[in-house]
Amino acid sequence: MFLLPLVASTSISRSGCFSFFPDADGIPRSRNSTSLSSSSRGRQRRLELRLQPSSTSPPVGHRHGQQQHQHHGSMGAARAGNGSDGIATNLPEADDYCLTARDIRCVVLDIEGTTTPIPFVADVLFPYARSNVRAYLVDTYRTRQTMDDIAFLRAQIDKDLADGVPSAVLVPPPSAPKEEVIDALVANVEAMIDADRKLPALKQLQGRIWRLGFDGGEIQGVVYDDVAEALARWHGTGAVRSYIYSSGSREAQRLIFGNTEAHGDLRRYLSAFFDTSVGGKREPRSYYEIWQTLGVDSPSQILFLTDVYQEATAARDAGFEVLISIRPGNAPLPDDHGFQTITSFAQISV
Ligand SMILES: [Mg+2]
Repeated sequence: MFLLPLVASTSISRSGCFSFFPDADGIPRSRNSTSLSSSSRGRQRRLELRLQPSSTSPPVGHRHGQQQHQHHGSMGAARAGNGSDGIATNLPEADDYCLTARDIRCVVLDIEGTTTPIPFVADVLFPYARSNVRAYLVDTYRTRQTMDDIAFLRAQIDKDLADGVPSAVLVPPPSAPKEEVIDALVANVEAMIDADRKLPALKQLQGRIWRLGFDGGEIQGVVYDDVAEALARWHGTGAVRSYIYSSGSREAQRLIFGNTEAHGDLRRYLSAFFDTSVGGKREPRSYYEIWQTLGVDSPSQILFLTDVYQEATAARDAGFEVLISIRPGNAPLPDDHGFQTITSFAQISV
């Protein structure tokens, strides 16, 4: 069951928006350590993840001069935050970004580095898939689902071989002994994971493996406290719907948000999940597709949150409103990135 913080304050901002902030001295409530055990071929392995404390509340009482961020919905619209000379100027960090005041109806969230610490993905999910891929393929090799997953992988590997990807390994035909096929598949999958490739075939297989981990209680999702609180708050007003757009498969997204360590099942606050079947996250066209699916009149009624500059730029070029998420462990942004930033979802009021 989701619990709102016991100590909290509410206020009505000057813009008339309802604000909800944890107390400024609130202690992060998430457990900062996540552990899981994974077994593969009888070998027990324990992973420990030490996370940075989740971001706490914004500086209540300190208000930057808010700059309006005007742009309109057509593809290739004027880039917000750019000066007249075309040089990007960074907008101040938002301390009260009011959704309804900006007519935002939908919020689309990236996961890694935005709702969830990057180390959870890099240090828990990826190693779990890597260490269990062989056992998973051995156990499920003859099932229809795994046969389809392998066919999907083969198509990617064939493309990699044709493209000269150095780590690609030829997979023997399906008529070859099972062990030989699996050896080649595992070599390819391990190399793909190590290179952090955003391949649909890889993501699909990883999602299958993670499901076993989540179902067995070996893995639990990690979502920042302020994200869980914001999702509940936005959902509670009925004014804003929330969505996920991640390069991870939709199955994996549902696992992470459906099984969080500190907040239980958060899927009740999420209206839909998007993955790269709508297109890559650095392509404006993908955001156009999402806009078409969400059905609002203008893409400017959709706010996208991400930690990655190229994704922010693509969404902005499609007419979305954009905030960049600053979290511990995120990659640095380019100088003069031109976007407004947040360090906590508590900075977004509704
Ligand atoms: Mg991200």
